[in-house]
Amino acid sequence: MKTIGVLALQGSVVEHINSLQKIEGILPMEVKSRKDIDKIDSIIMPGGESTTIGKLLRDFELLEPLSDRINKGMPVWGTCAGMILLAGKIIGEDHVHLGLMDIEVRRNAYGGQLDSFSCHACIDKVSKAPVNLIFIRAPWIERVNGNVEVLAEYEGKIIAARQGNMLVTSFHPELTEDLSFHKYFSEF
Ligand code: GLN
Repeated sequence: MKTIGVLALQGSVVEHINSLQKIEGILPMEVKSRKDIDKIDSIIMPGGESTTIGKLLRDFELLEPLSDRINKGMPVWGTCAGMILLAGKIIGEDHVHLGLMDIEVRRNAYGGQLDSFSCHACIDKVSKAPVNLIFIRAPWIERVNGNVEVLAEYEGKIIAARQGNMLVTSFHPELTEDLSFHKYFSEF
């Protein structure tokens, strides 16, 4: 059994847990404390509000232990706000949260809540069938540096990328029936 944690401070936590429950050999677990971080093999940081999740990570003193484990190779997947938490640069802002991944992200790049949308795209490395993508006040990746691998683009913007043990997506696979991203990540 592999234990995949879902950072459970704010955001779409239950949806990720539900998707993980459908994959054989995976034990999903909510992560709320330092102790929880010791128990997991990998972690998903969900969508929500990156400013709020970042503040709670600091308040609960989770930023450092999380950073340590990711630096030592623990797989991490940031969806939407989770991507912003991992980014080494947030355009227009002078701070970062974990700041571990060599990507520059633009928050709310597609506009506000009313500009949320759904579409399909082929993401060869992850699925043979087109993947349903749901964007909610989503960021995009404006630039990748170092050894970041671009996994998907939509209308010329990078929306999924990987750097070793770190995966980020602008969109929300946990809000669809498609388990391909969860399966892809569970094999890291
Ligand atoms: N707009 C949010 C932020 O900047 C992210 C939205 C989401 O996670 N669905 O943090």
